[in-house]
Formats: sequence, structure tokens, C-alpha cells
Amino acid sequence: MFLVCSRRCGGKLFRALFAEVELDSSGAYQDHRLTQPGCVCLNCGAPALDLSEVPAEIEAEAAEDAAATVTDVLCPVCETMVQLDSNMECPNCGSPLEVA
Ligand SMILES: [Zn+2]
Ligand SMILES: [Zn+2]
Repeated sequence: MFLVCSRRCGGKLFRALFAEVELDSSGAYQDHRLTQPGCVCLNCGAPALDLSEVPAEIEAEAAEDAAATVTDVLCPVCETMVQLDSNMECPNCGSPLEVA
């Protein structure tokens, strides 16, 4: 965990907001949620960011993008194996293609 103030105010102290449990009047369990973001800056009250979690998220997104955007497809028009990107047409002959 590496917290910074989202306003970059320079504050070094943060207060953790813990998971809240909501009860109705009979005491029955209604909802359980983790207050987001998890911490606030004690200096200015802005939400704190946990920078230690960011690189993993960015890597996961990049991996998803790479998997989703390039697909090998055999074009039925020019019969060429092409790598299809997000514009969904054959880069060789320009025919519209579908990912099988
Ligand atoms: Zn702050
Ligand atoms: Zn083609």
C-alpha cells in the first residue's frame, strides 16, 4: 500500500474508511460495502489514492487490449491470412471481415 493524496496537497496522514455494514430497523443484514475510496487525506479531506495497486491494473488492461485487438483471420476474399485489428477490415484487400 502506497497512499498519496489525490489533490497532491502534500499531506502524509490518511484515515482509513472501513467497510460499512447497513442494518434495517429489525437488525437484518441489508448491505455490505467497502467505502470507496478506502482512505481520505487528513490534511485536506480529499480521497487518497493507493499507487501500489495502479501498475497491476494497468498491466491487466494492457494484456486485455493486446488479446482483444489483434486476431489472425483468413480473409475469404483474397485468401490471405491477415491480422485483424479494431477496424475489422482486411488490410490486404479492404473487405469487411468478421472474427470467427
Ligand atoms: Zn490532501
Ligand atoms: Zn482480403
